[in-house]
Amino acid sequence: MMRPPEAESFFADSRKAVGDTDLRRKLEGAVGRHLEQVEIVAGAFPQYEQEKVAARRIKEEAISRLPELLEQLRRNLEAKGARVFFAGDAAEARNYIVDLGRKNAVKLAVKGKSMATEEIELNHALQGAGIEVVETDLGEYIVQLRGERPSHIITPAIHLSKEDVGKLFEQKLAAPYTNVPEELTVVARARLREKFLAADMGVVGANFAVAETGSIVLVENEGNGRLTTSLPEVVVAVMGIEKVIPRASDLSHFMEILGRTATGQKLTTYVNFVNGVRRAGELDGPRELHVVILDNGRSQMLADPVLREALYCLRCGACLNVCPVFRRIGGHAYGTTYPGPIGSIISPSLVHEGQAGHLAFASTLCGACKDICPVKIDIPRILLHLRWRATEGDIAVKWPQAAHRVRTGAKLTARLFAAPSLMRALSRAASVLLRPFARDGYLSWLPPPFNGWTQSRDFPLFGGTGNRVAGAKSAPVEAGNTGSGPTGSRDAGQRHDPEAHETEQAHQ
Ligand code: SF4
Repeated sequence: MMRPPEAESFFADSRKAVGDTDLRRKLEGAVGRHLEQVEIVAGAFPQYEQEKVAARRIKEEAISRLPELLEQLRRNLEAKGARVFFAGDAAEARNYIVDLGRKNAVKLAVKGKSMATEEIELNHALQGAGIEVVETDLGEYIVQLRGERPSHIITPAIHLSKEDVGKLFEQKLAAPYTNVPEELTVVARARLREKFLAADMGVVGANFAVAETGSIVLVENEGNGRLTTSLPEVVVAVMGIEKVIPRASDLSHFMEILGRTATGQKLTTYVNFVNGVRRAGELDGPRELHVVILDNGRSQMLADPVLREALYCLRCGACLNVCPVFRRIGGHAYGTTYPGPIGSIISPSLVHEGQAGHLAFASTLCGACKDICPVKIDIPRILLHLRWRATEGDIAVKWPQAAHRVRTGAKLTARLFAAPSLMRALSRAASVLLRPFARDGYLSWLPPPFNGWTQSRDFPLFGGTGNRVAGAKSAPVEAGNTGSGPTGSRDAGQRHDPEAHETEQAHQ
């Protein structure tokens, strides 16, 4: 089971990740290419902004009518032969699905990609009950073979290169080594087909659940969601309460924006509708369909007038790709199911019951997440709100020892900022003293305690006239490497890495 996230381990893991140049090269390569693609596809769609506004309005309506829509969804699902279970927390959801597996003598469960099942740590529970669980999304399959958690909401193996995957398949699947993505996909496909055909149970998430029709909608690119919901006799869909939308016609707006923002596609390859159990005369589809509707802290978010906006989230992953923190440390350092900006605002409520409050402080508040979000969630505002709640003691933040020094430094800095003439005088003195050590107006080294900054970034000379990209380490950052995203913003503090663009990922 996942350990509760603590500030101390977050700082230690982040520090380690920042020093891992190989990890950063892979992240920058994948994210940079992704953002370029998003920019092209979104830029070629004049109604993009209009559709984002429409999607936002639908989410606002859905969250404001949540109890009524969930009841309508339940009625319509049950009318189609599905069984609906409302789970108050992760344990209730896990127990329901494990019992279902036991009752149906399930030996093998195949899973489509689902962050909700990651949230409730379902694999662990099913395996504990003697049920083999196989992830069938390629990225999820890769991280499962490595015994890891996903490091990104939509690209779970973003921290790996095609070479890493080639070695993994050679070692775990006894496949001949290759680093050609198409060949790696063929290897995984053959293994997964065997599992699909043998599976007794299929488990999926839900991108949307349509109250009006009682439909579960799955958006995907690999066809594994379709196989997971049509081959096994027993199928379970796990969804958060916020996934319900009022009408089938609302989907057209989400389809216009989700693929564009999440994967840089006009539309994903598959949009699956699960409409109840197999009917007489149908060749496939489940004998039993169960829909687990999960609260697990979402009602608390709903009750908080600022935080409730986070329930609009489509889990598109775009805010991770533009976040300068995520791009430096990757997903695993967060220590939570949901990494990145969205993870920092939902983790204290959804997964860790008032813990993980330190993640609200792991942000530069640059606003890139808000700019790219397809439903315009004001993440910086929510982060500030959570910081306020943490200082009020409403959310637990266990600061490590070092934070005391940081707080003392912050207090001194605040006093300095409150005295502009002293600030100017010190700045001028520092500029004169440090100028001999600067190059292009930037310093590559600062003495302790300021050297933490220059370990991974250059520092602009006080009162200097540096004309580089803010903070870039030693050389200009190449276009297409860090990739200025659709927001047009380039990260401050980037270390130059000439090989980053050469690394390809083995999957989307
Ligand atoms: S907060 Fe917005 S950008 Fe981030 S995952 Fe959710 S929908 Fe996507």
